[in-house]
Amino acid sequence: MEKERVLIIGSGPAGLTAAMYTARAALKPVVIAGSQIGGQISLTAEVENYPGFFSAETTPTGPELVDIMQKQAEHFGANIEFDEVTEVDFSGGAPFKVKTYGKVYEADAVVVTAGASPRRLGVPGEEEYIGRGVSYCGTCDGFFFRGKDIIVVGGGDSALEEAIFLTKFANTVKVIHRRDELRAGPMLQKRAHANEKISFMWNTLVDEIIGETQVKKVKLTNTETGEESEMDTDGVFIFIGHFPNSKFLEGQLVMDEHGYIITDEMMRTSVNGVFAAGEIQDAIYRQIATSVGQGAAAGMQAERWLSEQE
Ligand code: NAP
Repeated sequence: MEKERVLIIGSGPAGLTAAMYTARAALKPVVIAGSQIGGQISLTAEVENYPGFFSAETTPTGPELVDIMQKQAEHFGANIEFDEVTEVDFSGGAPFKVKTYGKVYEADAVVVTAGASPRRLGVPGEEEYIGRGVSYCGTCDGFFFRGKDIIVVGGGDSALEEAIFLTKFANTVKVIHRRDELRAGPMLQKRAHANEKISFMWNTLVDEIIGETQVKKVKLTNTETGEESEMDTDGVFIFIGHFPNSKFLEGQLVMDEHGYIITDEMMRTSVNGVFAAGEIQDAIYRQIATSVGQGAAAGMQAERWLSEQE
């Protein structure tokens, strides 16, 4: 069994920042990176709103930002393990037990930054056609839709940001939204409306995704008139929000009804010595900038808590 001072679960902006702060406090943190180092930003094409990384010509890609954050954390002594947590036992207090696919760890303090994942529509055909026309990531799959006609489901910032990105590849992008008013911010709305390849379909629900080897069409319902219809499409990109990756923590930490871990203003969870930061505890802001701030706070509090125990 490996015994650590600080174990960080997750490697998004919150996790890598907590790692950098605890590494600078000479705690040699171990980061269990999860299935994808960087989490959701590693799937982001352009990061326009993270302060300090801007030039008029270009904005950094998500993976570029992750690479810098990873190198910075490692430079100060963080050790990043490419493994996933399967189980934790926080019931007996510190040292906390954390099991991964490869190892069992004990740690004097834990920072949970396991993030969130894209929400599913939950309609027939969705699971069946993932990777065959259904996608949750424009950056990953946009390339396969060169010259195609696709739809984007959702009306938030993610839906519009991805719709704009997908116009680099697709012939047309139809944004299907369940209301007649977008949730996305005005800046993205303006850019989407100005893009000739993007059109909107309002008050519409996607009820089913139909195909053969690949997606061929969707079944739709107009929420105003109740009218049902079918529409041909080559791809369905779904951006309807996220859910926290907290299933493995059920029964260990207090969460809200949606599975978000409850923390106080010092990023403390319901267990002394276990802290949480980033999207696993933040259903409101979900920005790289806010996750980084929460990660820094959680790292500082973990360090303080450890000194108090000595
Ligand atoms: P979101 O803001 O929660 O928007 C989700 C969208 O999906 C909403 O328009 C919602 O409709 C729709 N939706 C939810 N469930 C649905 C369902 N079952 N069927 C059909 N439509 C459904 O999620 P997000 O766009 O992923 O953004 C999450 C957070 O990240 C936000 O705080 C956002 O500001 C931030 N973000 C920021 C940027 C940026 O600043 N560049 C980029 C991406 C994300 P309703 O509107 O009717 O609820």
